[in-house]
Amino acid sequence: MRPDILNPLFAETGTLDGVGPKLARPLGKLGLTRVRDLAYHLPERFVTRRPVDDLDQAGEGEQIVVALTPSEHRAARSGRGPYRVLAHDSAGNVCALTYFGRASYTAKKQLPVGEKRWVAGRLDRYGDMLQIVHPDHVSEAGDATLGHLCEPVYALSEGLTQPRLAGLVGQALERLPDLPEWIEPGQRAARDWPDWRRALAQAHRGEDSAARDRLAYDELLANSLALMLVRADNRRRRGQPLTGDGRLRERLELPFPLTGAQTRSIAEIEGDLGQEAPMLRLLQGDVGAGKTVVALHAMLIAVEAGRQAALLAPTEILARQHFETLRAMLRPTGAEIALLTGRDKGRARESILMGLMDGTINVVVGTHAIFQDSVAYRDLALVVIDEQHRFGVAQRLQLAAKGRRTPHTLAMTATPIPRTLTLAQYGEMDVSRLDEMPAGRQPIDTRVVAQERLADVVEAVGRHVAGGQQAYWVCPMVREHESEDIAAAEARHAALQERFGDGVVLVHGQLAPERKDAAMARFAAGEAKLLVATTVIEVGVDVPAATLMVIEQAERFGLAQLHQLRGRVGRGSEKSTCLLLRGDALSETGRERLALMRETQDGFRLAEEDLRLRGGGELLGTRQSGDTPFRVATLDQIQRLLPLAHDDARLLMERDGGLEGERGSAARVLLYLFERDWGVQLLRGG
Ligand code: ADP
Ligand code: MG
Repeated sequence: MRPDILNPLFAETGTLDGVGPKLARPLGKLGLTRVRDLAYHLPERFVTRRPVDDLDQAGEGEQIVVALTPSEHRAARSGRGPYRVLAHDSAGNVCALTYFGRASYTAKKQLPVGEKRWVAGRLDRYGDMLQIVHPDHVSEAGDATLGHLCEPVYALSEGLTQPRLAGLVGQALERLPDLPEWIEPGQRAARDWPDWRRALAQAHRGEDSAARDRLAYDELLANSLALMLVRADNRRRRGQPLTGDGRLRERLELPFPLTGAQTRSIAEIEGDLGQEAPMLRLLQGDVGAGKTVVALHAMLIAVEAGRQAALLAPTEILARQHFETLRAMLRPTGAEIALLTGRDKGRARESILMGLMDGTINVVVGTHAIFQDSVAYRDLALVVIDEQHRFGVAQRLQLAAKGRRTPHTLAMTATPIPRTLTLAQYGEMDVSRLDEMPAGRQPIDTRVVAQERLADVVEAVGRHVAGGQQAYWVCPMVREHESEDIAAAEARHAALQERFGDGVVLVHGQLAPERKDAAMARFAAGEAKLLVATTVIEVGVDVPAATLMVIEQAERFGLAQLHQLRGRVGRGSEKSTCLLLRGDALSETGRERLALMRETQDGFRLAEEDLRLRGGGELLGTRQSGDTPFRVATLDQIQRLLPLAHDDARLLMERDGGLEGERGSAARVLLYLFERDWGVQLLRGG
């Protein structure tokens, strides 16, 4: 049960003044559904403005305060386009004040023709005219007040304005309760951190690094603590030690020898399986590193021990692929394997359920359907989860409840994250790393091409496809709203379809799952030659005949993400190519990133470099979803503060593993605050 003291924070945003269903929608889009979310919606940056006498003194792109006198209102023509108010400064320069949508009503009221007003905003140019789009402030008097404001700039969604959001954040901050201190007093004093409430207030008021650090530290501490509680709980559970006699593994007829890294990982897993405490191991290996064979060995150990194993995949199509691969490899062993997805119905499903219950099926592969309540196992001893980052720790625990005793868990991820982040994501899980690629891999020929050469790229794709091979075309997520990105991808798809016919399919995040799967399936079967996609293809599909990857605006992606995308090609015996299209406004970091992509294919190295490049000057806009499990802590803060938080959490666990004492109970509040309450729930059980 959540401590009562947190209730005001978990009240819905609808309880704030002025928030009705109309505002709740854009707030929801930003993930702001409760008062707490608003309090933690920290500014992306702050603006201060320079008062100028006239526009000659101001540079383009500069935030200014200037006196302007409106001379003419120009309504949007036929309801489209913006509403413009033409105004002049004291030197006679003309500037347009531009308003989109409903904001024009305010303009009409605030900017009467012939009356001088102080206007605060960012000076831009539109064609050969100076303009300020949606001025932040328009007032009758005083550059002195406007010029001294330091205002937060928040991430917005359509239907919200800065003042509106700032007002709501203000209301949220007023409702903050006094919470007990969970940070060790010495730690707080040494860094001069404010208490929690003050830290939040300060973080919204200006660039206060101590306040921001404290808030990030809270989140990191909550995360470390929760993961440690999971680990401690796991140690207390009793699993079933599994020892295999090797009789099935001996019968495998793999067409290749295992790599050293595979052999080592299998040995590590075998060691864990032999223990009574359930295994909690992460198998980390780049795309193509050969994780499947490692999973196969682990599952065969379970089968040799007379038990069952399950492999959980994040999507239907991946489940199908795993099933086909594993079925072929298992054939000489005689082990029974089945596929179970949400789509199986009727008799076929019944017979699989029977097989799982009576134990005639040894291995099952599927989507989360394999863990529905209606699915009962005779003796499930090992769960393999592919692409772990799609599933939270909470789900993993749910799985744990399925077997008669807690099954062993092997999580597999193709995201080669740096060591610091491994700690943040997986806490105390044991890690096996496949840091050696199978021999004979052809490097992917990676080239950086200017966007202006798009026509040549399309030609190259044409030749490639005409030669019977397949290709991916990736459109980035760059715009303010997801719908704009989808529109861009749809437009690219339409253009390529016009050029190449209907062998071009489109996949994006807003497509209905059946349509997405259908498009993927056509591509996997080779019927479709070109797959246009937003980054949804990042995880998953294995189509060896796809040997060309085009990535538009590649500089917008993080290195790790580019690497994941590139990993979709180079999976067969044919030589593969990756074309990184770059825009013309390439930053230094962008240039460095693309150069690294050309230089190396080592995922672990790229992950470390990615962290280095983004770490210091991370823009919030470049944060990738699923990057880290944090919404407050930035990469830089993770690197600086996670080791501290981790040690602090460990100390607390050692002194007060049940979180019964005073600081322990404050720590419980912290866990609920950051919704790591699954950690607390384990306490009660144990
Ligand atoms: P991952 O799941 O790690 O991305 P896979 O398990 O799908 O990689 O393996 C990629 C390809 O490499 C498969 O075709 C697999 O058969 C092959 N492979 C795996 N291990 C080896 C090895 N030791 N030597 C050669 N090929 C291998
Ligand atoms: Mg795989």
